[in-house]
Amino acid sequence: PLPEPPDFGASPRHATRQVAIGGVKVGGDAPVVVQSMTNTDTADVASTVKQVSELWRAGSEMVRVTVNNAESAAAVPRIVEKLTMMGIDVPLIGDFHYNGHTLLTNEPACAQALAKYRINPGNVGFGKKRDTQFAQLIEFAIQYNKPVRIGANWGSLDQSLAATLMDENAQRAEPWDAGRVLREALIRSALDSAHRAVEIGLPADRIILSAKVSGVQELIAVYRDLAARSDFALHLGLTEAGIGSKGVVASSAALAVLMQEGIGDTIRISLTPEPGQSRTQEVIVAQELLQTMGLRAFTPMVTACPGCGRTTSEFFQELAGVVQNHVRERMPEWKIKHPGAENMTLAVMGCIVNGPGESRHANIGISLPGTGEAPAAPVFVDGEKTVTLRGENIAQEFIALIDEYVET
Ligand code: SF4
Repeated sequence: PLPEPPDFGASPRHATRQVAIGGVKVGGDAPVVVQSMTNTDTADVASTVKQVSELWRAGSEMVRVTVNNAESAAAVPRIVEKLTMMGIDVPLIGDFHYNGHTLLTNEPACAQALAKYRINPGNVGFGKKRDTQFAQLIEFAIQYNKPVRIGANWGSLDQSLAATLMDENAQRAEPWDAGRVLREALIRSALDSAHRAVEIGLPADRIILSAKVSGVQELIAVYRDLAARSDFALHLGLTEAGIGSKGVVASSAALAVLMQEGIGDTIRISLTPEPGQSRTQEVIVAQELLQTMGLRAFTPMVTACPGCGRTTSEFFQELAGVVQNHVRERMPEWKIKHPGAENMTLAVMGCIVNGPGESRHANIGISLPGTGEAPAAPVFVDGEKTVTLRGENIAQEFIALIDEYVET
């Protein structure tokens, strides 16, 4: 007898405490949430409002802004006010380093307007000041009823904790390698800070943890350990992932492995935008990662063949792009008028070899003519051939059929 097939699918979610960030829930049984971060000067209210609105329109469910000086802290309530006037209800997260305690002391309106504070335990101060300033930030979160993310980062590791763990390691009968000691320092920095915040009085269901590194294998190891040692909600992200395809591949590889194991409650894909590339690319990649893994659905996905010597032109590749862009642009309206449209599947195929078969598997598919085939493009709707398109206007006619399918 043949062996039983393996049981495919993602592992059940790692159990975490649910945290409310404005109207968005993270952790527990909530779906994995997509978030992003602006790269504008937060003090420039108009530019920041524009970019936050673009990220929100692209599907970012929370947006982080840096709050690094008095001007940016003063700008935050004005940014939130303008977004509200535009009908944009997206939780704004403030990213604090070094001087967060001072900024929140001097700008109570900023403390109130933000939906969450991000605190980096490696960057709150040094020596005794570190403990005092960390406690001040947590007390602001308690006073204003806000959640916090305690976000440790490889690039700004608490050096005194790292030195202590190095000393402890030297006493071990079988010392760990340096990489494991540094991973432990990162995890301990996040966990110890979270436990300290709870001691100060912040409820555990108002704490999210992250411990970011820039290497794929290291990130997987750190988060497996973090998940095994706590039930705080977890923010996943590969820090400094890089530019272009490298950033997309490295982030996807690391986050996919963890999410397949049920680890991760909110994700951010940190991409370095290429010249001229929109910041919204990181939101699209995050959504596509979740959707291609079958964890969430945001917008109809287009299946397209890669093309080969059998294709007569690049038209079908262009058509695949046109179709994907069209459904992405229409999705905000469909989301309201036709909920469920995000689950629709589409296929754009280059010839008869796999075209009709793949098109039949989609809700709507088109098989364009390849070399030596008649100049005709059969369209399949829910597995049945319904019409054959010909001539100059195949793209427009196919898009009209997609719109009609969603409408009806
Ligand atoms: Fe080539 Fe046809 Fe396969 Fe597309 S479907 S890759 S055109 S053989």
